[in-house]
Amino acid sequence: TSAAQLAGLDASKLTVAKTETPKELIPNKDLVFGKTFTDHMLSIEWTATEGWQTPRIVPYQNLSLDPSTCVLHYAFECFEGMKAYKDHTGGTRLFRPNKNMARLNKSSARIALPTFDGEELTKLIGEFVKLDNRFIPDARGYSLYLRPTMIGTQKTLGVGPPGSALLFVIASPVGPYYPTGFKAVSLEATDYAVRAWPGGVGDKKLGANYAPCIVPQLEAASRGFQQNLWLFGEEEYITEAGTMNLFVAIKNKETGQKELITAPLDGTILEGVTRDSVLELARERLQPQGWAISERKVRMPELQQAAEEGRLIEVFGAGTAAIVSPVRYISYRGNLVDCGLKKEEEAGEITLQMKNWIEAIQYGDESHPWSYEV
Ligand code: PMP
Repeated sequence: TSAAQLAGLDASKLTVAKTETPKELIPNKDLVFGKTFTDHMLSIEWTATEGWQTPRIVPYQNLSLDPSTCVLHYAFECFEGMKAYKDHTGGTRLFRPNKNMARLNKSSARIALPTFDGEELTKLIGEFVKLDNRFIPDARGYSLYLRPTMIGTQKTLGVGPPGSALLFVIASPVGPYYPTGFKAVSLEATDYAVRAWPGGVGDKKLGANYAPCIVPQLEAASRGFQQNLWLFGEEEYITEAGTMNLFVAIKNKETGQKELITAPLDGTILEGVTRDSVLELARERLQPQGWAISERKVRMPELQQAAEEGRLIEVFGAGTAAIVSPVRYISYRGNLVDCGLKKEEEAGEITLQMKNWIEAIQYGDESHPWSYEV
């Protein structure tokens, strides 16, 4: 079969089979991230000979997989994390879904899974979210976490490109990451393990990137740190934290210039949608106030020195889960690097500002091209 005959993903072909046993809603205060799911799921099969099959919304249900299915042996799996938000008019919005679609396509292409038309999947996710709309809590900080996932489904132990795949999307109602307001976290710089390396796949959202991170995460937790911070190479470049990109605000030693810095996209960090949003907003709104905004490598000893010289203004993580997450300390070679928060503070000024700016767009308070109405 030539590629021209393969069917592309086509949202207009969607079929919907509604559940006959609607679930009871969980009270907002009892929501736990990723634990309960909505009534339905979106499911689309693909085969190498025919391409994308009919998109289907079906009742949320188990998958049935032959024990030889390639995802179970060789980790043909990639995924996304994005959210749907209720706005003040009762409408539903996604935040920059095109970014998640582009990233999922890059991830799937890297592990020989099929690519798809991102606009078509966004439309389908929109239909899914509209159908399960009642699960999106109508309160600030609440949202519906969406998990688009693609797996290889070929039944074979042969190591090769999967001849079939399944793309599905499930949805979990979630509460605010910090229900009682910001709570600064502390990180442990990991120097004994490496998450990603140049030429590797750390910049793709592959399931296989996550399982090996749990043990270092547990190690950090056993010493009282909420997440670990991945350093890279002999230079000990700061890359990213457990599931967040990292931003540091430093005052230049010679010039006093304030600079907001995050690691460049060199293959060793995930291309966070939040990272990109923080950078764009910083260039638009902080740069005119005299800030320099940089994507450049920072060595951990540089950060430590800035902290010791009182030039470290603030540090925060950036990711879909919390938007931004203020950092109080980073444990590094037996020292606690103080990230500039006052004792009574839980977040720095830039961190707070970013949260407010991004939230206003996500919840549709500020009309902005990043907000996608379903
Ligand atoms: N880094 C890693 C390793 C992650 O898993 C995530 C969460 N997707 C992020 C960064 C933040 O990315 P995003 O802003 O797209 O959620």
